[in-house]
Amino acid sequence: MMRVGPQAVTLSCPNCRNNYPAELINIIDVGATPVAKEKILAGNLNVTRCPSCQATNPIVVPILYHDAGKDLCITHIPPELNLTTDQQEKIVGELLNGLMSSLAQEKRRGYLFQPRSSLSMQNLREQILTAEGFSEEEIQQQRKLNELLQQLLSAPAHGLPGLIHQLDDRIDEPFIAAVSVLQSQLPKEEQAETLAKIGQILQCLMEESSAGRKLQEQSEQQLRAIETVQNDINELGKSPSNVTIRELALRYLEEEDNHLEWLVTAIRPALDYAFYQELTASIAQAESTHKEQLVKLRKELLDISARVDEMQRLALARADALVNRLLASTDADQAILQHLPELDRYFFQALGEQLSAAERSEEREKIKALRNLHEIILEKMQGMMSPEVRLLNELLAIDDHESAMKHFQEAEPDVRENMRSILPETERILLEQGDDARLEKLKKLQAEISESTLER
Ligand SMILES: [Zn+2]
Repeated sequence: MMRVGPQAVTLSCPNCRNNYPAELINIIDVGATPVAKEKILAGNLNVTRCPSCQATNPIVVPILYHDAGKDLCITHIPPELNLTTDQQEKIVGELLNGLMSSLAQEKRRGYLFQPRSSLSMQNLREQILTAEGFSEEEIQQQRKLNELLQQLLSAPAHGLPGLIHQLDDRIDEPFIAAVSVLQSQLPKEEQAETLAKIGQILQCLMEESSAGRKLQEQSEQQLRAIETVQNDINELGKSPSNVTIRELALRYLEEEDNHLEWLVTAIRPALDYAFYQELTASIAQAESTHKEQLVKLRKELLDISARVDEMQRLALARADALVNRLLASTDADQAILQHLPELDRYFFQALGEQLSAAERSEEREKIKALRNLHEIILEKMQGMMSPEVRLLNELLAIDDHESAMKHFQEAEPDVRENMRSILPETERILLEQGDDARLEKLKKLQAEISESTLER
């Protein structure tokens, strides 16, 4: 009888005839095996790799997909199996029996007796996404993305650069962003090989495709701009006067690369009523060209501040709504996983504000719920971190540089290697947050790590 969950099988490699053990899944119950759903969405369910010749061998088998949370039950009988209608019905029956026998009596609900069907794995994927609330347009996009990704995934490593050149006009920035999201969302242990391959593809995309090179150039430019602005702000000293801030802003007025934007973002609270009062006073006293410049500066600063404020207001409102949604959800774990990318600093700010408000009005139940939510999220985030992010966080938490380097040397070689690739992005984030202490540690680590790699 067919069972829920993965089953051990022995496969014979069509390429080299080697026999090898693998795991195969027919019946997916999302509650029991959430990783199988991720695999379907990533397009690599029941895809095995021959350990002797490294050939990728997909296994074509009937599938039953069940998500009790969404009343979703879908079968997929691969057309490649060339089964008659009778044979198909028999298999669907066996699949359903296998699922039912794993469910408690009260969970054997009506929809289970009328499963939907899907003709292809792609269609199965789309039905799952529709049930998740994705729009037709988003699914279309997902389909294109997936076709492109499958093409890249099936290419041997040495063929990647050539293939990427060939596909260059189809590779855009959203595609690269999606691959990078996929990399961060795939469950780690179960998919080590796919993950490694995706890492390889991502790196190759950044180096070989036009869109990738453009992204890289932009991010380097942005990093340089933030760094310049941060250094200039540091040079102004602890509490700079309105005049020195204005002079710095004036210097940026003619520069490209959004220097002025970064300045406003970094010192937004300093641009207060008194600042504008002094600026207006000096406009009144200034002569022709200088006057024009100051007027232009005032307008730019007001415009940018308004944009920054509006963005923060919207982000906070969205975050506040998300806190409420997570509090109300019956399956907090699942809800948190779905919204993981949105759990940014605005989210934690909104959570903190709700907590303070609840504490002020002594709403015990709400205080408890908010604290509980916070705890679950921190736990989840820790668990979701890739090994390289976890390592870097550990290193940045160690005060003494020698001990940090020792800890680094003890890590697995590929974790160390991957950690190097996230250093620039981390530097950008720390710069943006104005986290000078951790930034200094990061730079020290960075200097030593790049040296040690050169020696190898
Ligand atoms: Zn083989």
